[in-house]
Amino acid sequence: MNLKKNQNLILDNCLICNAETTKLDDKQIKVTYAVCKNCGFIYKGKEHHVDSEEELRIYSLHNNSFESEGYVKIFINLIKNYITPLKVKGKVLEFGSGPGPVLLDLLKLENYDVYSYDPYFNNETNYKNNKYELITSTEVVEHFSNPLREFEHLSNLLEPSGYIVIMTNLRNMDLPKFLDWWYRRDTTHISFYTMKSLKVIASKFNLKIINTNNKNIIVFQKK
Ligand SMILES: [Zn+2]
Repeated sequence: MNLKKNQNLILDNCLICNAETTKLDDKQIKVTYAVCKNCGFIYKGKEHHVDSEEELRIYSLHNNSFESEGYVKIFINLIKNYITPLKVKGKVLEFGSGPGPVLLDLLKLENYDVYSYDPYFNNETNYKNNKYELITSTEVVEHFSNPLREFEHLSNLLEPSGYIVIMTNLRNMDLPKFLDWWYRRDTTHISFYTMKSLKVIASKFNLKIINTNNKNIIVFQKK
C-alpha cells in the first residue's frame, strides 16, 4: 500500500517534457524528487509541497525590501543589463511581485507602464485584461506546482514579439551537488529547471530564449 501511495506522489513522468523520471532521495531534508531522464527538470514530491498558509508565512519572512541593499542591486543590474536593452515602450507586468515589491518600484521609477500581480500580496486579477510587451517574474517559477500551465498563462498575456524575463537559479549541477545546494532547502521551492527544460517550455508556448547568463536570468521572446 505504502509503495503505491509513494508512486502516486512522486511523478513517474516529467511535468515539462513527459519523459520518464527517476526518484531521488534527499536524506538531509527528507524529501523525494522526480528527476527527468530527458530534460533534467527536478520536481519535489507532492507530499512535500507546503500549503498556501505556510507559503504565505514563509514569503512574509523574506527580507526583499529596499532595506536590503544587495537585493536592490540585483534588480538594478537586471534592469540595466537585461531589461533596458529590450527598449520596451508598452505595458509591463511584474508577475509575483511579493511582499516588498522592489522590482516593481524600480520599474516605476524608470517610467515603465507597469502593472503587477501576486497571488498573496496583490491578488487583483485586472492584469488579465491587458497584453504586455514585457513580463518580469523573479524568484517565482521555482514555486510553480504546475509550470506548464503558468508559462502558458504568461505567454498568452504577451503581445506579439513580447518578452518574459525570469530569474530562477538553474539546476546546472549534477545530482550529488544538487543534494548539497542551498536553493533546494527553501521549503517553498518545488520546481528546479535546467536550461534544457526551459527550452522545452519555450518550444511549447511559442517562445524562444534570446538571452541568458546560464545561471539565474533567462529572457524569452514570443515568436
Ligand atoms: Zn523532462
